Formats: sequence, structure tokens, C-alpha cells
Amino acid sequence: MTDQFFPVDRPILRDIVTWSARRIVNGPDPSHGARPAADLEFDLAGSVCASGIGGAEALRRFDQIIVPATRAQDEAMNLAYVAAAPTPAALTFDLAVSAAEIFGGTWETGAGAIAAENQALRWIADLAGFPEEAGGVFVSGGTIGNLSALHAARELARKRRPEVQRWRMATSDSSHSSIAAAAKVMDVDVCWVPGDERYRMTGASLEAAIGDVDDIFAVVATAGTTNAGIIDDLSGIADVCQRRDIWLHVDGALGLAALASSKARSRFAGIERADSFVVDPHKWLFAPYDCCALLYREPAQATAAHAQIAPYLDLIDRGDWNPADYAIHLSRRFRGLPLWFSLATYGTDRYEAAIDKVLETVDEVVAGIRASNELELVDHPDLNVILYRRPDLGDDAMEEWAEAHRRAGTILCLPTKHEGGKVFRLCFINPDTRAEKVLATIVSDMPDPWK
Ligand SMILES: *Cc1c(COP(=O)(O)O)cnc(C)c1O
Repeated sequence: MTDQFFPVDRPILRDIVTWSARRIVNGPDPSHGARPAADLEFDLAGSVCASGIGGAEALRRFDQIIVPATRAQDEAMNLAYVAAAPTPAALTFDLAVSAAEIFGGTWETGAGAIAAENQALRWIADLAGFPEEAGGVFVSGGTIGNLSALHAARELARKRRPEVQRWRMATSDSSHSSIAAAAKVMDVDVCWVPGDERYRMTGASLEAAIGDVDDIFAVVATAGTTNAGIIDDLSGIADVCQRRDIWLHVDGALGLAALASSKARSRFAGIERADSFVVDPHKWLFAPYDCCALLYREPAQATAAHAQIAPYLDLIDRGDWNPADYAIHLSRRFRGLPLWFSLATYGTDRYEAAIDKVLETVDEVVAGIRASNELELVDHPDLNVILYRRPDLGDDAMEEWAEAHRRAGTILCLPTKHEGGKVFRLCFINPDTRAEKVLATIVSDMPDPWK
């Protein structure tokens, strides 16, 4: 087609695909990282101008200026925050999802892709022991997933208890910042539940904190806190929610990936009684950004809260399943398809093995920290986050240590706060992370296995 308004530039198309293929094969450069905005503005000056700079120059800027000023999230020694570890199949297929350009909001436009996404959601629902009718949608991240579930919960509560004037949600003080953010967006109050000696919310602490008032529309339990990987007492909390008829939402953005491991699954006992939960495949289920699975026990409750109604939507064939009806969105890309393709490629057993591999790595690093004279383990981890102290380093020296290793690209391990003091934090999600390599880097009295 030569008469297209925006013609296809075949050489550039090939260069972009080649660039992508190289990146997927070679992986990222761990020495890449953020630069000052003024420098980037200078280097990228004039990219957007009346005549355009052309695809070749734009691609050069992407390769040489833009990407080097970003962090390598999918690098095996990136153990900061929550990194990423998408499979090659998932990353590659993301290109095809983009090229297929399917509108992901409605059955009419996306039926086939919805059927595939729903297979991936079904796998997750089954791991959680959710019923046959359960279902949901892939949203951009845990933040939007949590907010969408909480909105559905409040809509239901409003119908059932119209007399309540001002609503509260209950959550532990270790829950993710997105829960407090959702409360702000929804203009509801938060009943902060103190954790036990291991910072876990329990049924008893929840019951004590909410008292006898009937203004709680949802309890948000965390299955794997971001800072320490701690899992709340989901069973005890589910008992309270059932007795008092309160929606239980479980934020498992990070941790619920470990449902895929039959060895770890029992740590989440009680999840099968939740009304909704989220898990981010872009964190520990080996999918690229951005991808959060949001699941509802009774999807009709979500539709009641989220379905958009308008004359221009009247004629749409809503078929059996409209992703738009389950969260705060209408247009969406099929961000669940890279996960679907990867599951179909490798099989779910391979996913289980990958989670188990990461948990073994955690055990090996824990054992190494315990054996070291230099490091102190903070607590035995519930999941995939290790906190440890290095008493010979002051707070500033800890930051200097982390920065030196970041620059060298050897390890990305950043300090966090725990019990008011600074500790080092390691978050494991990549099955290619090697325990001996981590230990050789974090323990200075450890022999380097590569020397
Ligand atoms: C990461 C995280 C979130 C937020 O998820 P996004 O995908 O970054 O929006 C929410 N809860 C927990 C426990 C998390 O670890």
C-alpha cells in the first residue's frame, strides 16, 4: 500500500524488530540508570519538531540516550524494590500483541483475545481455589487493581447498608501505599490495624481494631508485604469478614505468585475465601509491564460497580465477558496475552519450578547470611524478601555501599527502614539469580566463586 497517509518504512520496521530481538536475547545492561533531567533534555533536544527527525535518528536516540538512562529491571542481580523477570516468550509476544492492535474492552472487538486472557485468569483463580463463576480482568497494576476491587466492595456495601454515612476500610499498617492512595481517591477513612510481633494482621487484631461499628465496607489483607514479604493471617481475617459480612480483598500484587508453588501454597490458606484479590504478573509471574490480574469471586458484583453506560455503547455486543466491566477503564490493551502465550509455551509446571527455584535461592541466601559473621538476618522470611543488617556499616556507609555496587552493575540492593533503623533489603523474583553470586557480593568475608 503506497498511498497510505503514514507510509510503512520497511528498513526502520526491520531495525526496530532487530533491536527488540537483540534486547530480548542479550538482556539489559545493569550499569544503565537515571540521569539528570537537564542532561536528557539537552541530549534529546529537537526530537519533536515540525518536520520530524526521521525514524533512523529517533531509533538511535532511543538506543543511545533513552534506554541507557533507565534501570535494567529484568537483570538477575537487580534485587531492589520489586524487579521484573519476564520470560523471553512473554516479552517477544508483547510485540505481536502491539501489532495486532485489538481493542481490549469489549467482547465485540476482542472475543478471541478475551477467551485467551480468561484462560490465564482461570489458571490463577484455580490456584487460589476460587469457584467456577469467578473471573476478572488484567489491569495496569496492583494500584488500579486494588482501587477497582475496593470500589466494587463499597458499591455493594452501599446497597446493603444505605444508612451508613461515612465508610471505612480496614488494613494493616504494613499494607502497600496504594491502599492508602485508594482510600484518598474514594474519600473513605482507613482503620489501621496494628500487626502482631511479626507485623502480621490477624483475625484478633482486626476484630479489636474495627470494634462494633458497622461502617467497614472492606478489609484489605496483604499476601506478601512489599517491604518484608510478610503474609497476613488470611484464615483468621476471613473468619472475621465472614462473621461480619465484610468484603475481603487480598493484595497479593507481589506475593500471590507463589500460589503457583504447591510447596508454598499453604502459606496463603484462607485466600479461597476472599471476595477479590490481585496479583501482578509483571512482578513475580514472569510477564512484561504492565500486567495485574484482578479476580472476583462473584464478577457480577464488579459489573454492577464498573459497567459504563452510554448511548454510544448501547449497540455493543457485550457477549459473555466484557473486560471493561470489571475495573476502572474502558479502552485497554490485551496486556494479559503475553502471560497467556508464555503459559502456553512453557506449561504451568515450568512456572511452578521457577517459583520454587526463587524460593530455594532465598533459602540459600538466608543460610549464607546466618553463617556469616558479618551479617545479621532480621527475621526468617515468609516469602521472597530478605532483610538483613550489616552492623559494621553506619547508615551513610550502607548507602555508599549500595551506590558503589549500583554503579558497578554488580548488585542492586538498597537499604530500607525496619523498626526505625536502616536495613538492607533483597527482593527475589528472578529464577536466574544465583545465591552464591549474591552472597559473594553482600558478604565481604566470603570467597568469590568466580576467582
Ligand atoms: C507493587 C505492589 C502494589 C502496587 O502494584 P503496582 O503494579 O505497582 O501498581 C500493591 N501492593 C503490593 C503488596 C505491591 O507489592
